[in-house]
Amino acid sequence: MIEELPNAIRSGALDVYLQPKVTLPDGVVYGFEALVRWNREGVMVPPDRFVSVAEESGLILELDRYVMRRATQVTADINAELGRSYSISVNLSALHFSGRRIVGWVQAALADSRLPPSLLTLEITESVELGDWRGAQATVEELRESGTRVSIDDFGTGYSSIGYLHAISADELKIDRSLVERIETCDKSRFLVDTVLDMAGNLGLDVVVEGIETESQARVIHQLGGNKAQGFLYGRPMPEETMRTLLRNEGVRDLEQDAG
Ligand code: C2E
Ligand code: MG
Ligand code: MG
Repeated sequence: MIEELPNAIRSGALDVYLQPKVTLPDGVVYGFEALVRWNREGVMVPPDRFVSVAEESGLILELDRYVMRRATQVTADINAELGRSYSISVNLSALHFSGRRIVGWVQAALADSRLPPSLLTLEITESVELGDWRGAQATVEELRESGTRVSIDDFGTGYSSIGYLHAISADELKIDRSLVERIETCDKSRFLVDTVLDMAGNLGLDVVVEGIETESQARVIHQLGGNKAQGFLYGRPMPEETMRTLLRNEGVRDLEQDAG
């Protein structure tokens, strides 16, 4: 796989799927997350199978750059076509934050796609030990100063969640699916999510709750004060074209409703 991956990136064999991000309780789409898929001779390989391999070899830097370019372009195109301001979230390996190259890459992707910086969110996953994050803060700060948003992904699963929040300044926090799974039946899950929502609110962070699969999970999250979500209930990651068609039809439905 390591041998094939550089060529897959170069030859466009990586597809960028989009998953809707929605507001609660209405479930209206306000943006998407870009999730990479490897089209390996017609079989869609999920990122869990190659992202860590790509991190070991350093190839993840090129991969993320490719996904970011593509995702910003697609979103700008959709916004231009539909006259909307959907936002896009891109996952970046923590490896990007040990240097500054990412800053130029983000600027180039924004300039080439003409997507406003405020519509791009960079999701950083919490899978790196805190020590590394102190140095990363300068890069994060530079990105945020240019107007791009920064999100802490998979909150609640990593090494030292609170310390991490202290070390890096972000705009958004994503509560991991593992905290949400049993939210209707498990008091402990509910208290934890409630507490994280409160804490994030106190820190002035937006919160997106990940992995919502059922209406009743969505109801509990909303009751606890959550107002943004993502999950199979609202839509699975899908090819760009499918997302575009879906949004086009949603626009048509809005018009029909307005017309009575
Ligand atoms: P993530 O960033 O936390 O993305 C959310 C993952 O949860 C996605 O898996 C998505 O398909 C899945 N998911 C969303 N809603 C639900 C739900 O309701 N139920 C369940 N069971 N799953 C749900 P996916 O696409 O397989 O991606 C896995 C991870 O791979 C991502 O987790 C992210 O950490 C990484 N990844 C994906 N694309 C990229 C990329 O372009 N660059 C980097 N560096 N990492 C990526
Ligand atoms: Mg993510
Ligand atoms: Mg996540």
